Amino acid sequence: MNLHSQIADIAFEGYIVILLLFAFVGFTVVFFLRNSQCPACKLYFVKNFGESNEVNRSRGFDTIMRTDEVHNSNEEKIGEIKRQEQVNAIWLTYENHFNCKRCGYKWHDVSIKRLTEFRE
Ligand SMILES: [Zn+2]
Repeated sequence: MNLHSQIADIAFEGYIVILLLFAFVGFTVVFFLRNSQCPACKLYFVKNFGESNEVNRSRGFDTIMRTDEVHNSNEEKIGEIKRQEQVNAIWLTYENHFNCKRCGYKWHDVSIKRLTEFRE
């Protein structure tokens, strides 16, 4: 590989990094714009976050990954072991309410949160 093609390679990698960066920033901006938009009047930055109500709660089991540290006789960490563990889980369903600062339109969405570490 000659110097010229090495420089071309570096420049190409630079383009890819910049492209990825633009794509990332683009997605983030689109996400924030969409997340601030009113579905009725379509304006941006008008979404008011109201209250979230728990509407459902269900119990069950779920599998989580645990990482155990492995120590030698001097209590120094020499490795990790990943294992799966069945745990009690609670799924909380929330109804999240929003309203528009401009037209007053009200809407809601539903989100689910999983709890795996909790006290009875
Ligand atoms: Zn609106």
